[in-house]
Amino acid sequence: MVQEMARDFAEKYIRPYVMEWDEAQFFPIDIFKQMGEMGLMGILVPEEYGGSGFGYQEYVTAIVEVSKVCGSIGLSLAAHNSLCTGHILTFGNEDQKNRWLPKLASAEWIGAWGLTEANTGSDALRMNTTAVLDGDEYVINGSKTWITHGKSGDIAVVMVRTGEKGRAGGISAIVIEKGSPGFTHGKKENKLGMRASETTELIFDNCRVPKENLLGIEGEGFKQAMKVLDGGRISIAALALGIAQGAFLAAVDYAKERHQFGQPIASFQGISFKLADMATEIEAAELLIKNAADRKNRGLSVVKQSSMAKYYASEVAVRCATEAVQIFGGYGYTKDFPVEKYYRDSKLCTIGEGTSEIQKIVIAREILK
Ligand SMILES: Cc1cc2nc3c(=O)[nH]c(=O)nc-3n(C[C@H](O)[C@H](O)[C@H](O)COP(=O)(O)OP(=O)(O)OC[C@H]3O[C@@H](n4cnc5c(N)ncnc54)[C@H](O)[C@@H]3O)c2cc1C
Repeated sequence: MVQEMARDFAEKYIRPYVMEWDEAQFFPIDIFKQMGEMGLMGILVPEEYGGSGFGYQEYVTAIVEVSKVCGSIGLSLAAHNSLCTGHILTFGNEDQKNRWLPKLASAEWIGAWGLTEANTGSDALRMNTTAVLDGDEYVINGSKTWITHGKSGDIAVVMVRTGEKGRAGGISAIVIEKGSPGFTHGKKENKLGMRASETTELIFDNCRVPKENLLGIEGEGFKQAMKVLDGGRISIAALALGIAQGAFLAAVDYAKERHQFGQPIASFQGISFKLADMATEIEAAELLIKNAADRKNRGLSVVKQSSMAKYYASEVAVRCATEAVQIFGGYGYTKDFPVEKYYRDSKLCTIGEGTSEIQKIVIAREILK
């Protein structure tokens, strides 16, 4: 049911505008409001907080279907659900959940999540943004880069340093609402792909936030963020799978239609073997994702499984999109056909929520411990 709903919605309301939004770097906020009405913006949120109360299988299914049509929308859907909403859902107290989750689940509010800074990406532990308690408020100074929905977001969960630099125990997670004094957004990035997913800086200049906005206790923020990313990586794997499938389906159709040397190019072994490799890798990625989603639903550790799914699926997305462009030949290199966009969008998957190199570090650490 979720698959059909997400597929129909993407075909009807997203597909016709994909290139227009991409060219203009337009973040189509109304699409997210519509997805909120459909229950896709609070897909993992229990019904008591206004969500759909689904599990990870339904969640990844929705992301795959949307990403098959547009990676940008898939990325924003994943960031809103897994990161901002997921963080509050997992670590918020009852008051915080009642206050923010219904707004996020309905998409009345769009969520952002800030871990990365200009000088600390993979090495997030050494972040510079600080929060100092002053009476009943935290005073926050610093900035975050590459933040999805940094401008259009109504609320952000932000990791800040409340203790010693470079120590996990020195980081805390705080919720900051739009309009808080001293909180603004910075420049919007002009990106290679995922152009309809807004990415900007967040700036904190003596930003004051009530101390009740702290999630969990002081010093727990880094641990929380790593746990949030365990779930988030499953959704980025689903995003990658959607892109790989979209590119594959386009390539299959084109290979059957395009004739050279008096026959469809699909009849050349050089082309059909590419399709065979793509299909095999896509199925393998799907199984890794389903396994991670199943473990997540059962409350088992997914540290290794989500990294494996994210690492493999994102590299598959890049390979499939590259081969799809090759199968389209010169036409694949133009914006008149869909595969060049899959090609540009796919690369984000090997970078966001931890690069492929970082996933290999996580996997190796897990298997060697
Ligand atoms: C479109 C987009 C959206 C994003 N959205 C968000 C968001 O909403 N919130 C947020 O907090 N962040 C977000 N990010 C940031 C993203 O998570 C980081 O870009 C990513 O973690 C990598 O960090 P970096 O860019 O600083 O690269 P760096 O950490 O500088 O890495 C550069 C290169 O060095 C490699 N490298 C680094 N350390 C090691 C190591 N120990 N061993 C081997 N290789 C290593 C990396 O793999 C990479 O190839 C987003 C990024 C993009 C592009």
